[in-house]
Amino acid sequence: MTPDEDVVELLRQLVAIDSVNPSLVADAAGERHIAELVARWANGVGLAAEIIEPVSGRPSVIVRGGTRGPGRTLLLCGHLDTVGTAGMRDPLTPRVDGDRMYGRGTYDMKAGLAAALIACRDATDAGITGEVIVAAVADEEHSSTGVQHALQHLTADAAIVTEPTELAIATAHKGFVWTEIEVQGKAAHGSRPHLGVDAILKTGPILVALNELNERLRSAAHPTLGPATLHASLITGGIEESTIPDRCLLTVERRTLPGETTADVGREITDLLAACRDADPDLNAISRTTLAREPFQIDRDAPIVHALEAATLATLGQRAPITGMSYWADSAFIAAAGIPTVLFGPPGDGAHAEIEWVDLPGTIACARTLTAAASTFCS
Ligand SMILES: [Zn+2]
Repeated sequence: MTPDEDVVELLRQLVAIDSVNPSLVADAAGERHIAELVARWANGVGLAAEIIEPVSGRPSVIVRGGTRGPGRTLLLCGHLDTVGTAGMRDPLTPRVDGDRMYGRGTYDMKAGLAAALIACRDATDAGITGEVIVAAVADEEHSSTGVQHALQHLTADAAIVTEPTELAIATAHKGFVWTEIEVQGKAAHGSRPHLGVDAILKTGPILVALNELNERLRSAAHPTLGPATLHASLITGGIEESTIPDRCLLTVERRTLPGETTADVGREITDLLAACRDADPDLNAISRTTLAREPFQIDRDAPIVHALEAATLATLGQRAPITGMSYWADSAFIAAAGIPTVLFGPPGDGAHAEIEWVDLPGTIACARTLTAAASTFCS
């Protein structure tokens, strides 16, 4: 098989293994079998592979190629897990139709992972004087425990996360903050409203204020990410039709731009509630942050950005565009560990959707580009 055929065959094998994240879907397969495949494949082509399994059934694999010589170390990172397969037809049977391969995880992101592994092998065979590490990590689709643990086992001079970017070089992505806002009321019989406080109606002005805040956020757009946004994602409250509700719980997701911190968002919500309280002194509302993930951004002129641009010029015939991704990814953790990071992966569509596919010529181009980038960066 040629290297181009190898990446498609490896992708086919990866897609055929169920690796649905069990933190998302009860009793799902997890990463054990796919981690074993990656380690077996790596050993079979002469690369060292180490399975790390801090939580039983949730392993990551660290594959090492090249030499620990004078050259630099490049980390290629992809996740092993996928989201669930509800509503899909034959999600684990990779099906090729024209230039596309269909199946759960083809696009997000087993094609990127296959390209990274092939690049590790081919850069090693090309005789680089540095090291290429592939971290094939667990649990990106839930809590990112895999990458956080892998980072305790490795370091690198730069990293490429091979999530799908349509063969563009992504130098930024947004973060997010989840905030719960709890409004307290007082239960009473619906016929005696003077004895109660309606927590759901009290939440109304907060929703209006959040909508106004979302409008204001539009005025400051990041060059590749656009504006920060928020949405009201969950709301619960009430007991029954004839009872004044004593509690309303609202969850807001705020997507953050590079430079915005979790504390900034916390203050923004606290100030918003304070303004609502000024208008309604009886309002009893508190907020708390339940989960936060940092945004990510790298300097446009970082060496890894230039190396990847040169590699795309060599393999794609033109310099790949610089872009930002709307989604959050493990890149934020890698960058936070002090490793300059970019995202670069193949084209396709249907991440987390019922019909998911990846472009095969694009996957081959991705593998070639990663090989070229590793060959120059690690020499
Ligand atoms: Zn992904």
